[in-house]
Amino acid sequence: GSLTVGQFAEKLGRPSTDIIKKLMVLGVMATKNQDLDKDTIELLAGDYGVRVEEEVIVDEASFEDEGLEIDEKTAVLRPPVVTIMGHVDHGKTTLLDSIRHTKVTAGEAGGITQHIGAYQVVHEGKKITFLDTPGHAAFTTMRARGAEITDITVLVVAADDGVMPQTVEAIHHARAAKVPIIVAVNKIDKPNANPDHVMQELSEQGLVPEDWGGDTIFVKISAKKGIGIDDLLEMILLVAEVNEYKANPEKPARGAVIEAELDKGKGPVATLLVQNGALRIGDAIVVGNTFGRVRAMVNDLGRRVKKATPSTPVEITGLNNVPQAGDQFMVFEDEKKARQIGETRAERALITERKETTSKVSLDDLFEKIKEGEMKEINVVIKADVQGSVEALSGSLKKIDVDGVKINIIHAGVGGISESDIILASASNAIIIGFNVRPDNHAKDVADQEKVDIRLYRVIYDAIDEMEAAMKGMLDPEY
Ligand code: GDP
Repeated sequence: GSLTVGQFAEKLGRPSTDIIKKLMVLGVMATKNQDLDKDTIELLAGDYGVRVEEEVIVDEASFEDEGLEIDEKTAVLRPPVVTIMGHVDHGKTTLLDSIRHTKVTAGEAGGITQHIGAYQVVHEGKKITFLDTPGHAAFTTMRARGAEITDITVLVVAADDGVMPQTVEAIHHARAAKVPIIVAVNKIDKPNANPDHVMQELSEQGLVPEDWGGDTIFVKISAKKGIGIDDLLEMILLVAEVNEYKANPEKPARGAVIEAELDKGKGPVATLLVQNGALRIGDAIVVGNTFGRVRAMVNDLGRRVKKATPSTPVEITGLNNVPQAGDQFMVFEDEKKARQIGETRAERALITERKETTSKVSLDDLFEKIKEGEMKEINVVIKADVQGSVEALSGSLKKIDVDGVKINIIHAGVGGISESDIILASASNAIIIGFNVRPDNHAKDVADQEKVDIRLYRVIYDAIDEMEAAMKGMLDPEY
């Protein structure tokens, strides 16, 4: 779009005369009401150190910020959305199957469950939505794409195995997202099950059971034998009741993509989780970088539905292209606008891919961000070769305080830098510090893609020193 000199000046917060003078220097005689062309705007903006964003981005801004906000006056309670996490083989999949099986067959006669990436169950008349892809990697990948859809995490820990590395990772991932954790101590049917040991180990991680004076809910279950499942669902509903998750079903729908694929017959198919508003057949919709009109909607029981209310997952067809899991969607009043925004976003996606622009934090721009008041806390992920170094590094970093800006360690552990570390850092806008470890090749690629800053050190003092210098704007530039 074009702007007049006056409008441009207003956007910059400068008097029009400033702009007119600048233009004179460039050999252009202008008045306040004169239209500026795109090139001139960019040139001038460059002089003032600001970046030009086109008119359509105004629409994008609204895409990012509005619609998920809850209007308290008309808000109603919505079902909680739950993700199951835990170490491999501790029983996540078995638990998801068990919950679905007991509840669906009991409640919905004739329903044939269909895997669409999420499902809903009813317990004591209340609905709960479960995401069908367990694990913290999927959870954080969605967050890295901007989708915050999980309300509650169920952390599964096998009572015969106890806390394992991925258990700790899962805790850190849930905490980084500020999502409450309910612990499900699983496999209590096993003869060598030791739930007390699990409780003790988790207490060391800051998850202290209510029985022991803490505030973490623990439920003993056997996913395989179906023991304690009702208790677990009850506790989920309890946490939901306390937190009062709300939405405005009268609004146009907003939400996120759970999964998507290209179906040979149906074309692009996507499972959407409605986070706010209600989604209807015929709605004009922008999904990530694509758009379309909702042609058909099917729920997790394979039934056609006309409308999907908050926290409901539905599989839709009618999109132009296949979006990605974690992409956000938004319904627009008219199809033209949806098309325009969808197409612009698709173009922009190509441009940003080419330009490889970034807004992620790095040591190099830390000071700038602090100065601009953008950062009150610097998120850091620490990986080191031995536990002693992890602790020494965490302890020293936590003590750094530059003008009230502190370091927040969202994850620290022993071992090489993994893809999961990178995705967590990406989702939480964190810097990764590696001590005597390095990323494997795959992790390195992901870090490049996600623009995550990885800093490797062999001397603890160097890591502390560089962090402090970066925060004070005294980091030696890297050439
Ligand atoms: P995931 O990797 O966390 O998804 O774990 P799975 O659900 O695949 O379970 C791993 C193994 O543990 C499978 O062989 C399950 O049958 C078994 N398992 C899961 N839950 C229980 C349980 O409550 N009791 C017993 N005895 N075995 C279980």
